[in-house]
Parts: sequence; structure tokens; C-alpha cells
Amino acid sequence: MQAFSNAGSGDIVLAIARRIVENRSYLSDIDGLIGDGDHGVNMAKGFSLAAERLRGEPRPLAASLAALGDVLMTEIGGSMGPLYGVMFSGFAEALDGVEEIDAAAFERMLRHGLEEVQSIGAAKVGDKTLIDAFAPALEAFSAATAKGESFAAALDALIAAAEKGRDSTIDLVAKIGRAARLGERSRGVLDPGATSCAIILRSLAEGAKAKLAGAQ
Ligand code: ADP
Ligand code: MG
Repeated sequence: MQAFSNAGSGDIVLAIARRIVENRSYLSDIDGLIGDGDHGVNMAKGFSLAAERLRGEPRPLAASLAALGDVLMTEIGGSMGPLYGVMFSGFAEALDGVEEIDAAAFERMLRHGLEEVQSIGAAKVGDKTLIDAFAPALEAFSAATAKGESFAAALDALIAAAEKGRDSTIDLVAKIGRAARLGERSRGVLDPGATSCAIILRSLAEGAKAKLAGAQ
């Protein structure tokens, strides 16, 4: 079966946290171009705090995602604390009680997370936010599985679409968030949130692929 166990996969969250911490300066530098330069700092603070709390005993993926969501929501400022907070809590909620995570469960997880972010942030594709990486990534995953592609191939499609979506933000004018105040001057650079979202989705998908390979 193309699936991996929820119980044995909490370490995927630690890998995501490592990637965010590694990209701390990069993400803040990008935010410095059209925002206030705190994106990497906020993100690294939240993700490393969550990683500290998760180290030690292995936990299920759902529990680890829930812990990350809680930390981001309650302890991290900026736009990203609440936005990524509800995203990861949404992921966790969708996986709660799921023993084996197959492509359908993974898709439900992504969809619920996206809905949660949009329910508080109201951003759409084209507004130059993390939604520009997230929404096409989910679409690509869902299209690949609908075509009968394997779970792993659908995860590759997700990664490629997230990064293409991230790159699409270069040509966009910010319509929402702090960068929107710049109007036309926000064009020409990457959106920091779309960039961190592509990092998160790649790391999540690679973690899932490694679990699938191990489960065979
Ligand atoms: P702040 O803007 O408060 O300094 P950050 O620098 O941490 O927060 O995050 C900025 C990122 O937040 C932007 O690059 C954008 O992707 C994202 N963002 C802002 N508002 C929204 C929203 N309403 N919905 C989705 N993403 C948003
Ligand atoms: Mg900022």
C-alpha cells in the first residue's frame, strides 16, 4: 500500500524546523526588500521553539504538527504566527485518528490547512502571499493522484508546483499584508511567505517520500 504510518512520522516536523532555521537569514533578507525584514527571525524562532519541545520522545505526525501549530499561534508575532499556526493545526486536525497516511489523507490534510489559512487571511492566488505557493501545490498533488500517479510522484508534482508558484510571486504586486503598502514597488522580488511556504512544502513532501520508501 502507498502509505506511511502516522505514529512513526513525527520526525518530519523536526526536519521542516531544521530547514526553516537554516534559511533564517535568507528569509529575513527577502522580507527586508518589501517588508520589515523579520520573516526569517520570526519563523526560525517559532520553529526552533517547537523543535525543542518535540525532541526526545518520538510522536505521531499529527501530534507533532499540532504542537508546532500551537507554538506558532501563541508565541510568534508578525503575520506568520497566526497564519502558519492555523495551517499546521489544520494539518494536524485532518490527520487526527488516521493510522496510515495515504495520498487521499495527505490531500485532505493539505486542503484543510489551506482552508484554515484562507479563513483567517482571505488571500487569493495572485495577491503575492504564501497562497501563491500553497494553492498550486495542492492542485498539482490532487491532479497527479486523480490521474492515477503514485503517491511519491504526486509529492514530486507538489514540490515542483510550490516552487513554480513561489517564483510566480516575483512578477506580482502585493495586494495584501505589509508589502501591499508599496503598491507597484513590491513587484520584482520574491514574496517571503511564498518562499518559506515552498521550503515547508518541499521538506514535508520529502519527509513523506522517505517514509514511503521505508515502508516498502
Ligand atoms: P509581517 O508582515 O507581519 O512582518 P512576516 O514578515 O512574518 O509578517 O510575513 C510576511 C508574509 O506574510 C508575506 O510575505 C505574505 O506571504 C504573508 N501574508 C501576509 N498576509 C497574508 C494573508 N492575509 N494571507 C496569507 N499570507 C499572508
Ligand atoms: Mg515581516
